[in-house]
Amino acid sequence: MSQKVFPVMAAGLFAALTLSTSALAQAPQAPAYATTKVEGTDNVYIFRYANHQSMFIVTKAGVIATDPISLRRPAAKAYIEEIRKITQAPIKYVIYSHAHYDHIAGGKPFKDLGATFIAHKNAKARIVELKPDDVVVPDQVVDKQKTISLGGMTLELIYVGRNHSDSTLVMRLPKEKIIFTVDWIPLGAVQFRDMADTYIPDIEGPEK
Ligand SMILES: [Zn+2]
Repeated sequence: MSQKVFPVMAAGLFAALTLSTSALAQAPQAPAYATTKVEGTDNVYIFRYANHQSMFIVTKAGVIATDPISLRRPAAKAYIEEIRKITQAPIKYVIYSHAHYDHIAGGKPFKDLGATFIAHKNAKARIVELKPDDVVVPDQVVDKQKTISLGGMTLELIYVGRNHSDSTLVMRLPKEKIIFTVDWIPLGAVQFRDMADTYIPDIEGPEK
């Protein structure tokens, strides 16, 4: 398999369950955020803020961003500033990886710039029903699959059923052979003793 996969952890749970106070105090101070170009690409980047990561794609016609990762913190401001160091092209899309607020809260600065928000239909239904603070309601939804084409880039948004949440999208760049998806369990391991809102049997395989 030559696909690059970027599984990302839910930072809050990770900190709460695996780091004691003293371990936190002793942890080396990493920069609050950083942007890294994905190896082998010209225009695909990972933006990290604390322990959360998002992918963004830069084209001449505009930028496709993913999760704002701004729950009770100014990550979206830093995220947009990082994008602006690379391009002045408009930020056309924000894609929600799944419905968990630690990933999708705080998208208003992107909305103010005119971005179209896209999520799985179960994510939009949950957001519309629960009306969480500081979560932009998606403008468009994905059922099984949706393809975004922008500036010569193709991004597939694929729903493969319940795994972590019932609204996770697999984001695939077919030309670059990259998959970006969030909070999945790695092969042969689990991230947390209690992986919240995760459907283990469904991850192992769909019901026949
Ligand atoms: Zn999650």
